[in-house]
Amino acid sequence: MSAEDAFFALIGGHQDDAWNEFHRHAAEGRLVVQRCTDCDKRRWPAQTACARCQGLGAEWEEIAPTGTVWSFTIAHPPVVEYLSDRVPVTVALVSTDADPTVRILGEVTDGVSSLRIGDRVMADFRIVADGVGVPTWSPVDTTDPRGAA
Ligand SMILES: [Zn+2]
Repeated sequence: MSAEDAFFALIGGHQDDAWNEFHRHAAEGRLVVQRCTDCDKRRWPAQTACARCQGLGAEWEEIAPTGTVWSFTIAHPPVVEYLSDRVPVTVALVSTDADPTVRILGEVTDGVSSLRIGDRVMADFRIVADGVGVPTWSPVDTTDPRGAA
């Protein structure tokens, strides 16, 4: 399995149009999530149907690329090939400011040694293949108005 194949296996890419659209927006440097057109619930990861109401309708909504670390873990080898050159790798689940129930997973790329649950973070985006991006997270200075709650 190539590194790219391993990555797509990890993120579930090339398997679902909704998931691929999320990654296309990320490649444009935008954090965009689905909003159910039936019950109005935002959701991540992108899915064909709403987990709350099973509605099939969804609109895409760009949200602020900021949030709070809800939880995180530090992964050591063995990891998927895509991450093998960056271990140990810290991965955080971030509650977004737009909707704290929408939590987005991503690698933490800076400030790992002092990371704490509750820290303010901002998304950046890594291009992993043509038209495919993933969000990453890094701590923000809470005195910076872009990252303040
Ligand atoms: Zn719904």
